[in-house]
Amino acid sequence: MKFFYSDEKNERFNPAMRARQITDTGMDVDYDAIFSQIKGYVKTVLKKERAGIGLAIGEFDPKVAAFWQVGGNYIVMNGALIRALEQRLNDREAIQNYVIVVLMHEYLHSLGYTDEIAARRLTHTILEAVLGGEHMATKISSRDLWEVFPQLYYAQPRYGAPLKIVDRFATRDASYIA
Ligand SMILES: [Zn+2]
Repeated sequence: MKFFYSDEKNERFNPAMRARQITDTGMDVDYDAIFSQIKGYVKTVLKKERAGIGLAIGEFDPKVAAFWQVGGNYIVMNGALIRALEQRLNDREAIQNYVIVVLMHEYLHSLGYTDEIAARRLTHTILEAVLGGEHMATKISSRDLWEVFPQLYYAQPRYGAPLKIVDRFATRDASYIA
């Protein structure tokens, strides 16, 4: 079974419900909006963009925050880590900034910056350029995620759980291609 989020135009659309469907905790984190924001930041600094990349939430090795498979259409975030942050940190702003850093890193991979260290440095450079050195996301991006958020060590993946597709990403990008 896959999760498909209702369209914004759909009367039943409810951001809180959407977040709950991702992580079970009900925290309202708008992944779709964050991803759009990230694409804008990257485009501003690098003059590069890529359509057709969607977001999914999966359950896998808790040492990995997210991944993008070379040639793949989805950035897959580790739902277990997001859940651990929501349950133990319960700070929406911090979690949103965590998502910004993780998604930008993977998005840069998808743009061809496949080297790990280069992607980390570039994430920091872009965030610093756009948001400034004092922004929480910029600060997070200069450090190891597990050092900033020790709550991540408590992540317990639900291995074998189905991948959840955050479908609105893919839909929006599909319209760019068309
Ligand atoms: Zn990476």
